Amino acid sequence: MPNSLIAVFPGSFDPPTNGHLDLIARGARIANHLIVAVLQNTQKNALFTTAERSEMLKECVAHLPNVEIDSFDGLLVDYAAHRHAHIILRGIRTISDYETESQMALLNHRMRPETETIFLTASAEHTFLSSRMVKEIITLGGDASPFVPEPVMRQLRGRFPTAKR
Ligand code: ADP
Repeated sequence: MPNSLIAVFPGSFDPPTNGHLDLIARGARIANHLIVAVLQNTQKNALFTTAERSEMLKECVAHLPNVEIDSFDGLLVDYAAHRHAHIILRGIRTISDYETESQMALLNHRMRPETETIFLTASAEHTFLSSRMVKEIITLGGDASPFVPEPVMRQLRGRFPTAKR
């Protein structure tokens, strides 16, 4: 489709949080097609596999017809080119997010000038929220349910049966 705006929202999503889902829903209103791209990283402290994260995300976005879940490894700009996407979507929560994200955006633009990064500011209620925080809460036996969508909470309960719910 000419003039169709294809955007990639890349991330680790380990696990997906309400903050991610908020950004996906808002991104889906801007782009014609939004590809949520799960980074296939080999982090030793990863909680979920790439396949598990993708499955959870698929359940969470089932109501959004223009959102696709995919995974990638290697350079983001190469993946974006492969998917004919000119927009990279990222979220900004804090000044420190801005510092790292703006460097990445400049680097990506340098490597592939057709690529533009669009930032959405985190919604006020999600500014403090990160996958790392969710992992900390759940591994310390707390209740993560206010911070993650139900399909994610189900997986977390399976993984941490003694956590509060
Ligand atoms: P990465 O390891 O690539 O930063 P994350 O899964 O932590 O992957 O984040 C993916 C994207 O989602 C990033 O752009 C991040 O800024 C954004 N993001 C993470 N948490 C939130 C949140 N609470 N609100 C809005 N955006 C968020």
